[in-house]
Amino acid sequence: MLDIKWIRGNQEQVKAAALQKRVPCHVEELLVVDDKKRDLLMQVDQLRAERNRASEQIAMYMKQKQVSEAESLKEQVRGWNQKLSVLEPELAQMEQRFNTLMLTIPNLVSPETPIGESDEHNVELRVVGEKPTFAFDMRDHLQLGEALNMIDIARGVKVAGSRNYYLKGMGLYLHRAVQQLAIDLLTDRGFTVMDVPLMVREETLLNAAFFPAGKDQTYELPEEHTWLVGTSEGPLVSYFAGEIVDLSEGPIQLAAVSNCFRKEAGSAGRDVRGLYRVHQFAKVEQVILCGNDPDVADRLLQQITQNAEDLLALLELPYRVVAVCSGDMGAKNYKQFDIETWMPSRGAYGETHSSSSLLDFQARRSQLRYRDHEGNLRYYYTLNNTAVASPRILIPLLENHQQADGSIYIPPALRPYMRGLDAIPAP
Ligand code: AMP
Repeated sequence: MLDIKWIRGNQEQVKAAALQKRVPCHVEELLVVDDKKRDLLMQVDQLRAERNRASEQIAMYMKQKQVSEAESLKEQVRGWNQKLSVLEPELAQMEQRFNTLMLTIPNLVSPETPIGESDEHNVELRVVGEKPTFAFDMRDHLQLGEALNMIDIARGVKVAGSRNYYLKGMGLYLHRAVQQLAIDLLTDRGFTVMDVPLMVREETLLNAAFFPAGKDQTYELPEEHTWLVGTSEGPLVSYFAGEIVDLSEGPIQLAAVSNCFRKEAGSAGRDVRGLYRVHQFAKVEQVILCGNDPDVADRLLQQITQNAEDLLALLELPYRVVAVCSGDMGAKNYKQFDIETWMPSRGAYGETHSSSSLLDFQARRSQLRYRDHEGNLRYYYTLNNTAVASPRILIPLLENHQQADGSIYIPPALRPYMRGLDAIPAP
């Protein structure tokens, strides 16, 4: 959420950001509603104050037996109450409209962000690692996973519907190995690692800026009045919601490993083969809370992106980093980099990580604050990035590391979590 005072003075910048992000927003109406809301609030406050003063006065008249003075004042109070009975619902309605409109205002777009409509306009920043060449008939992750008895899509669909799967044996080991490797790396780099609630209140997702836009992607549990998270970013960002947090020892680094649930509405027909786009997956997520200094946020964005790149280096996977353009990045993001890992069966890089800086956009909605050196309350900045998401990462792992004999090479960093194996043996 942006500051309404700031929006008032910078309407054109807000409109430009909405246009660049291709999201509808109603700045003019918001400002009209804000004016009316403030005007109504002033009238209501004034009437309430007068009524309070009059009540005290009436009590005094009654004590002093000045009945006629008390009666005439009561008559006045009745008039004010009548006015309030009209103004208060009007104010409530205006506040509701104001809040709804505020939620349509996207975050700004950083000056470094490429302006464009879709992922075709993302800009490649660096390419790392060698793409493999195969002197044998390469197989895709599904063929490999089925041959090695690691992946079973057919029974996943039978039991749970489309975009579901089972991971078995070494498939499960690999899935957990990448997560544990990520958790260990982040722990070594000072992150507090957590297990988090996966069924959360609506306000958690609203305040972390996933709602209202992402509602159609999220599974609701109406009887429990909760929603299944699509990423642990929501519960991690909300961990300190409403609190004043001590940032004097530097940024707070949180990480979680969680299942993620996504409806994938609007993806019908896209990525239907294999494990690329599924309804339930696991993700190790990094979230950073830092002071409201854009330079610090920029440095931390590089840092959390580097954490993911270091993991890919340990997994010995080729990848590239792209600056995500305005039309392809989330409405809540200020700046975003994606990491795309080489997927031989696609003959292309596929998105495996998403690294974002949000400035104080989530913090304002969630009331995440700290005291600066002068003791003033400030909203902090938030950032997030995937450390690893599985089973999507199993696609490049299986495909890039397949060997002529049908086995899968396991990079040394994963072996401690893979029962010491240096390869998943061919059947
Ligand atoms: P996001 O939280 O949307 O930025 O996604 C972070 C990462 O989670 C992506 O880069 C993917 O690796 C993974 N991911 C997102 N959606 C899906 C999905 N439907 N199925 C599998 N993996 C996903």
